[in-house]
Amino acid sequence: MPDYTGRFAPSPTGPLHFGSLLTAVAGWCDARAAGGRWLVRIEDVDEVRTRPGASDDILRTLDAFGLTHDGEVRVQSRCKARYQAALEQLQRQGDVFWCRCTRSDLARFGQSVYPGLCRLHTSPLNNAAVRLRVPAPCPQHFPDRVLGEQREDVAAVTGDFVIRRRDGFFAYQLAVVVDDAEQGVTHIVRGADLLDNTCRQIYLQQRLGYSTPDYAHIPLIVNAKGEKLSKQTGALGLDAAHAGKLIWLALDLLGQSPDAALARETPTVILTEAVRRWQITRVPSGLQLPADKRVPVD
Ligand code: GLU
Repeated sequence: MPDYTGRFAPSPTGPLHFGSLLTAVAGWCDARAAGGRWLVRIEDVDEVRTRPGASDDILRTLDAFGLTHDGEVRVQSRCKARYQAALEQLQRQGDVFWCRCTRSDLARFGQSVYPGLCRLHTSPLNNAAVRLRVPAPCPQHFPDRVLGEQREDVAAVTGDFVIRRRDGFFAYQLAVVVDDAEQGVTHIVRGADLLDNTCRQIYLQQRLGYSTPDYAHIPLIVNAKGEKLSKQTGALGLDAAHAGKLIWLALDLLGQSPDAALARETPTVILTEAVRRWQITRVPSGLQLPADKRVPVD
């Protein structure tokens, strides 16, 4: 196994936007600067939100932007047997229970922590979600390479959390942990919007006997109103005709101070130079990053 295996794991709910490009550029440069592998995984575990054609569109965009990946693209909807095996392991260990609580049942408790109502349902039930039992307290911590030391008591923040949904789809938490372990991922570089999942994922890794990768959460690009650039807030698609300029802008926002002259170059030339100079410690540390930079050419 190489010392560094990174990954980019987009959900195919629409085309890539600039915020996801920023994360992809950061992860790609970090992997390449370490001489590591960079995998791409299509996270279509939530089949309800998957948009037809979005995966191909994302892969074409990565290609056009010079963000080359190693190995086969893993597609979560084809890995359900792997998630089922992990769930059965957790069941054998007494780590899960079946839960029929509805949103309105839980709303009556007025808190985000699961109140433990179904904890006695240790055998499978139809039409039920599966939750991971979280002991109290469940303190977790990790050194984020961008944000510094992070701590959370999972029992106090979410409590027992869903690993298979009531509609039968595996939850993101389980799929991501199983995939990262099976693909030998050692370094996770992803958006800061996912930061509050990490301690839950670390607890799940511990229960499944996996090692915990290194994490780096990249700040989210926000617009002038402080809103996250996402499909919902109308983030622009990535026009391949401007690939070089957009990569240059991403590097500038990531604190890498690319030379102005590079903005006219092709993605491959810009990325090669970026890898040579890459330092993750220069990425601004924070959850939000205003998109207030400009490309120095038209
Ligand atoms: N599929 C997730 C997303 O697109 C990313 C998951 C991850 O990087 O852990 O937001």
